[in-house]
Amino acid sequence: MKAVVYQGPRTVEVKDVPDARVEQPNDAVIRITTTNICGSDLHMYEGRTAVEEGKVLGHENMGIVEEVGPGVERVKVGDRVSVPFNIACGSCRNCEHGWTSFCLRTNPTEGVDGAAYGYANMGPYDGGQAEFLRVPHADFNLLELPQGTEHENDFTMLSDVFPTGWHGVELSGMAPGDTVAVFGAGPVGLMAAHAAVLKGASQVFVVDEEADRLALAGRFGATPVDFSAGDPVQQILEATGGQGVDRGVEAVGYQAHDHTGEEHPELVLDNLVQVVRSAGGIGVVGVYVPQDPGAATEGAKEGRIGFDYGTFFTKGQQMGTGQAPVKRYNRQLRDLVVAGRATPGIIVSHELGLEQAVEGYARFDAREDGWTKVLLHPGA
Ligand code: NAD
Ligand code: ZN
Repeated sequence: MKAVVYQGPRTVEVKDVPDARVEQPNDAVIRITTTNICGSDLHMYEGRTAVEEGKVLGHENMGIVEEVGPGVERVKVGDRVSVPFNIACGSCRNCEHGWTSFCLRTNPTEGVDGAAYGYANMGPYDGGQAEFLRVPHADFNLLELPQGTEHENDFTMLSDVFPTGWHGVELSGMAPGDTVAVFGAGPVGLMAAHAAVLKGASQVFVVDEEADRLALAGRFGATPVDFSAGDPVQQILEATGGQGVDRGVEAVGYQAHDHTGEEHPELVLDNLVQVVRSAGGIGVVGVYVPQDPGAATEGAKEGRIGFDYGTFFTKGQQMGTGQAPVKRYNRQLRDLVVAGRATPGIIVSHELGLEQAVEGYARFDAREDGWTKVLLHPGA
């Protein structure tokens, strides 16, 4: 089958690889209809991880069940399904408590709990930027979607970015009527803004410097804040009569940069502890990673990141972090799409065939104007 394969820093290729197949009794194989390129894929693409060459990329997958193993009972061949990026067993202590992002069984990598498709340090699983994908523990992991092709661009956000944005808001402790500041207007930040509005925030600010992304934040009912026009903390303090916001969401990660383009991994965490009120909460879904000695390039080599912990402590704020447990939210978010109340698909900027993945990666990585969310359709 054809698949997008990592070949070294800033190099992916569309190549023939062995077909995905049922390997364990509770596996399913999915024929991929849509698979997205994610901001998280760029950590590998840019060589900031020790991901092995030859890895098939892609953790944002949906499609049609092609084959099931003899142990699969609920899922049937022909079902249209969303595949959460987390690969979870369903029965370990963390899965039982809904923390499928920290499954204790599926990732053999020492010191890391939680597995994902096509990702560095997240287990030996190939990704779905391919014609077919093997899904372990299929009955537990797969989410059934309405048959047909309707809402494809909305449902494809259910595997990662919509639940991840929602999780960022959950981690912040937001309640209806709260004000929220989301840092980052990439797909994850935009989904956090969508989530905060849907959950009843009274006002949502979204901070970025990319005009096209800030415009999308406005379409979700949020107030754009352009950090290239001045300190975002000051701008939000002015807009809130000096009070700041009740909740903050970090949707940038360690590659946070200032208005000159220089990277400062602590910048957004510092902004958040300043702009969130005392006793408020912060949800961090932007990725910060521990040292990865095998990384090809500098960047995420240092996991120890300083931020203004003194202000965080003095203000008595709370902070939640980590990979999102997609299964905790995806069923409800699917039903919000079906009901017409959620429209995550409006962030889609490009739909490409699998063969165009090389161009898709390069242009999304360069953050070319308008390249917000790129979908690949292997069958097209
Ligand atoms: P992205 O790279 O498309 O978006 C990041 C945005 O942050 C960009 O638009 C950039 O301009 C902006 N930005 C940079 N510096 C900033 C600053 N100082 N202030 C405000 N905005 C700034 O990525 P994405 O796909 O939206 O993902 C965002 C982060 O979430 C990444 O770190 C990604 O790895 C992570 N992620 C986490 C999970 C999870 O489960 N926790 C899941 C998916 C993605
Ligand atoms: Zn993703």
